[in-house]
Amino acid sequence: MQPMEVFLLMFNKVMGVFKNVKITKYIVMLMSFLAVSALLIVLSIVFSDAVLAYNVEYDGAVIAQIEDKKVFKNAKFLAEECIASDNAEEYINTPELLLTLTLPDRIDNCAQTAHALLENSSNLIKCVALNVDGEQVAFYKDHDSLQAILDKKLKEYDVSGFENESEFIQNVEITEVYCPSDKYTDETEIFKKIDSLIVKTTTKVTREVSVAYKSITKKDSKKFVGYYAIGQKGVNGINNNVESVVCINGREIKRTKLEQEVVKEPINEIIVIGTAASSGTSGMIFPLPGAKSNYPITAYFGAIDSVHATPHKGMDFSAPYGTNIFAAKGGRVIYAGHSSNGYGYHVIISHGNGVNTVYAHASKLLVKKGETVTQGQVIAKVGSTGWSTGNHLHFEITVNGRYVNPGSYI
Ligand SMILES: [Zn+2]
Repeated sequence: MQPMEVFLLMFNKVMGVFKNVKITKYIVMLMSFLAVSALLIVLSIVFSDAVLAYNVEYDGAVIAQIEDKKVFKNAKFLAEECIASDNAEEYINTPELLLTLTLPDRIDNCAQTAHALLENSSNLIKCVALNVDGEQVAFYKDHDSLQAILDKKLKEYDVSGFENESEFIQNVEITEVYCPSDKYTDETEIFKKIDSLIVKTTTKVTREVSVAYKSITKKDSKKFVGYYAIGQKGVNGINNNVESVVCINGREIKRTKLEQEVVKEPINEIIVIGTAASSGTSGMIFPLPGAKSNYPITAYFGAIDSVHATPHKGMDFSAPYGTNIFAAKGGRVIYAGHSSNGYGYHVIISHGNGVNTVYAHASKLLVKKGETVTQGQVIAKVGSTGWSTGNHLHFEITVNGRYVNPGSYI
């Protein structure tokens, strides 16, 4: 309503009262006085800054001044939003809205009016709500105190001496609310709720780690198979690792290496193994297929008989022509050929440590000088070449050039 409209309204009402009264000189004077006074009031309103407004009142006490009733409606809605209750509208008492004159700077806006409504409600406590994933789970006296409790919880899993960053897995917020007094939770409730929050801590740690040395195998053809020695002792290296460690409530779930500084390089271990044919007379096998008993011994070691004028240097096993002859043990072939000294086609294998084996009177040779053979490998076929009276294998063992009884080794 404009000031002029108000004046006209008032004027008409006053005139209505005096409509049936006999107009006297005094009444005219009074009327004139009133008219002039009213005019002065209107002029003072028009030429001053005063505006029409509504007082928002509870029991005669003005809690706010608003320019129109729409502001009250919006303010009430805003106030209800701040109340931690599903029935927020129950907590705002309905005030009286009375027309008044006021100065523009005394007019309250929507937020100020909402605040006044909340402050003048008897059943509400101004406090803060702990919001977990969008839900108000408990209330506490003020923002800073609650934030301090939350901060303490966040630091619970920090690793001292390192850079820590922590956050709650849940979306945690503090909002200022007006809580209905019967809904306000005590302190134990807030601690219980905070205790159930899950903390993710990311810590940047530096630690010294041992770097395992590598084992390198070096073959030595001068050493026999089975030879094993540490040529160089391995020593672990040291690295300084900068790592990011992610923990959930203190339990490590992820570790990522960010940086690495080599403090000491590892020293590789060098293992020397022999590749030359195995040494010694031990572990020899019978050099013909099947059981030894299948092959009649036609001459023992040391025998002197009609064929052997001097003591026999090996053992003779009678065997069918073409029977496979095996290497009694792995080694290197140092002779494979035919000689006129009585052995005919024969093979000599060196097993190292001065031990040689001889396979004589063969019909056929299957290996060459210099070749490495494995135990059981077919090296020749039984025959009767050289000084021989029938198909047989002459098998001989020498140790450092001395003949030994093969019967003791196969
Ligand atoms: Zn013989």
